[in-house]
Formats: sequence, C-alpha cells, structure tokens
Amino acid sequence: MDDKHWFTEDYPEAGTAFSLRIRAKLHEEQTPFQKLEIYETEHWGNLMVLDGCVMLTSRDNFTYHEMMAHPVLFTHPDPKQVVIIGGGDCGMLREVLKHKAVERCVQVDIDERVTRASERFFPELCSANDDPRAKLLFADGLDYMRRLEPGSVDVVIVDSTDPVGPAEGLFGTKFMADVWRALGDDGLMVQQSESPILHLDTLLADVYTAMRGGGFTQVRSLQFPVVGYPSGWWSATMAGKGDVDLTAFRETDAAAKPFATEYYNAAMHRAALAIPEFCKKLMADR
Ligand code: SAM
Repeated sequence: MDDKHWFTEDYPEAGTAFSLRIRAKLHEEQTPFQKLEIYETEHWGNLMVLDGCVMLTSRDNFTYHEMMAHPVLFTHPDPKQVVIIGGGDCGMLREVLKHKAVERCVQVDIDERVTRASERFFPELCSANDDPRAKLLFADGLDYMRRLEPGSVDVVIVDSTDPVGPAEGLFGTKFMADVWRALGDDGLMVQQSESPILHLDTLLADVYTAMRGGGFTQVRSLQFPVVGYPSGWWSATMAGKGDVDLTAFRETDAAAKPFATEYYNAAMHRAALAIPEFCKKLMADR
C-alpha cells in the first residue's frame, strides 16, 4: 500500500507507530490553537487528528467516552452539576447527559473549530448538544475553573489533549487546586491520564502528584482499551474531595442503568478498577 493511503501517528518515545488505512482526507485547517485534520478511513469510520495525534475514530471512541464519563458519575452519590474541560468533539457531553440526575453540563473547550468539525463529521457524538441541560462554552478551561464559584460543581471531567500547548496547565497542581475549590463536599474529578505501559512513571505519576498537591486525598485510576491511542491501553484517574472510597460506586444503579452503552457496565467498571502488579507502586500506595 502506498504511503499516501495511510495515516500514521509516530510515538518516538515508545519506538512505535499506529497507522490507519485511509480513503480520503476530508478536512484540514489550522485553527488559532492547533492543526485539525479529518480523514475517512477504510475500517474505522472517520478519524479526527489534532496536531498529528489521534483524537478519536467513529468506531472506537465509545470505550474512551464511556469509561471517562460513567464511572465517575456512578461514584458520585448524586451528580447534578457537571463540567467538562476540553471534550470539544462532544462525545463526553452525550454520555454525561444520559444520566437523568444531571441538571446541567457545561463543556468548556478552548477551540470552537473542533466542535464545528465534530458537528459535521461526527454528528452522532453531537446528538445531545441541543439538550436544554447542555451549555457549550469556547474558552480556556484554566481560566474557567479559576473563576468558578467555590463548591458549585459535583463532577469535573478533564477530556483534554496531551499536556503540551494549551492543555499543559490542565495537568498541573494549580489547576487541580482550582478544581478542588470548585467542587462540593462530595465532589469528584476525573482526568484522562494516558497509557499505564508507556506513561506510568512520567505523566501518570505527575497526575497523582498534581492531584494530591491540589488537595485531593483520594486518587484512583481506571484502565481500559482505546485502540487508537499510543499502546492501545489507556487510563483515567479519579480524585475525590472528601474521604470517599473511589472503588465503592453505586453498583446497583450501574447494573440497572436505564440507558444504552457499548462498553460500560457495572462489571467493566469493577474490572477497570483492578490494579496490575506493575502499577501497584504508584496506584496502591496512595
Ligand atoms: N480524547 C482525546 C484524547 O485523550 O486525546 C481528547 C479529545 S478532545 C477533542 C480534546 C480537547 O481539549 C480539544 O478539543 C482541545 O481544543 C481541548 N483543549 C486543550 N487545551 C484546552 C484548554 N486549556 N481549555 C479547554 N480546552 C482545551
């Protein structure tokens, strides 16, 4: 197959690369924040790429969106006010609004062009954008979090790009402290925290340190597959403001969830909380 029929994301630090066979490039633009590309692939539906990194494909985004949204929402006792930082493709918003208890979900992405492209090329992810409980803001998540009224939010979901460029601060202690302040007493956050096999001693360890430094006493990771991300093995890290057991989710509610999912269920939630031996040094000592 000729090179021009493949999209390849190179991971130099891991000495690996991931390729998808493509039919066509559907869109390309330089937004004020990043280079945005959309491809039509042969087997994975449409593909969104930001600054050369795979964000999502039509076919496999459900593992990421469902495992970032539902575990934290089924761990909080009664999530009503939710904030998503990043998440401009709107897939996270759609999952959050499947929870009828949620009264309002504010999505704060710095780049409106990502949402406009998603509306055009991933309309299925944008099906909840007109929900009266949804509010789409286009602003820097760092500023937004700093200005939120203390104690006003139940759950914060950080669905950001990698910690370079505009997303860098979203992985730092100052931001975590702002999230901690914005959360109510039972408040929870979750952050995408990259690959256990590639980033355990680097990004994942830094996320634990930043969350603890920001005031969170309870920190716990979930693990799940995301085919298109480096190594295919991903994590989300939850943090609790109070003295909450992050492994004790509303299992009966999760088992009886009144909405459809493709990956998430109570058993997958329980399984995702298990800690492999090589991760215990970071994840079990805390
Ligand atoms: N699931 C993807 C992943 O893990 O690679 C992330 C997808 S989502 C498209 C990431 C979004 O984060 C992008 O749309 C980007 O514009 C947004 N973003 C990056 N930095 C941000 C910031 N400081 N405030 C708000 N949104 C930000």
